[in-house]
Amino acid sequence: MPKIRRQPPRATQPAATPAPTAVQAFQGSEVTISRTPRPAPPVGTLPVADVGSQPLEGPVLKTRGERVAALEVIQAEVKPCIQCKELATTRTQTVFGVGNPLAQLCFVGEAPGADEDERGEPFVGRAGQLLTKIIEACQLKREDVFILNVLKCRPPGNRPPLPDEVANCRPFLDRQLAVIRPQYICCLGTTAAQTLLQTDRTIGQLRGKFHDYRGIPVMCTYHPAYLLRNPGAKRDVWEDMKKLMAKLGVNL
Ligand code: SF4
Repeated sequence: MPKIRRQPPRATQPAATPAPTAVQAFQGSEVTISRTPRPAPPVGTLPVADVGSQPLEGPVLKTRGERVAALEVIQAEVKPCIQCKELATTRTQTVFGVGNPLAQLCFVGEAPGADEDERGEPFVGRAGQLLTKIIEACQLKREDVFILNVLKCRPPGNRPPLPDEVANCRPFLDRQLAVIRPQYICCLGTTAAQTLLQTDRTIGQLRGKFHDYRGIPVMCTYHPAYLLRNPGAKRDVWEDMKKLMAKLGVNL
């Protein structure tokens, strides 16, 4: 009887690692950053102002071309603006905002950082890359939304904006939002939330619920820069984004 030669066992192929989903890419993204932590904001005492009762300024612009033209008018005023003396002399350039003028969703952040000041576009540094991951985890693209900041100029050393700087720049923000008229706004961090809603409540008190800015529902959540320092807060941001996207008809 012929001997049956046993083949040596084949080395099993390691299972291919599946590509991370957009949600995993956001939740598991790298989290180190060397930024000086800011002092905690004071505990809020003012209620959220009734900004919902004030109408958006100006006419409703329906076409992309009308909105692009109207935004260009505002941008032409922002570019040479020197209302904040220190910022006007230390900035490389103003950072107006970027995205789809017909966007259903606007993200509002605080102010440009070093990368944004250099490139003239908001949220392009490490925090911006994390925001892009959040947007993609929401099944959107950056080009689908509009991204802007409360301040159009970088505060030196990335210090928090001063109250008079916020007051100087606020009309530009109101005018941008009046042109875009998004269905929803997402405020990223304390400065954006407190400025838009005219309150001194903390982001921890404001997040997770819808507020009202001139008839537009506003969700507040943590700033991506905060997530880079505190990755545990990504879970809260994801819960906030799920609530927001459910309103836009996307179940995450
Ligand atoms: S932050 Fe705004 S108001 Fe101040 S100088 Fe820049 S564009 Fe003008």
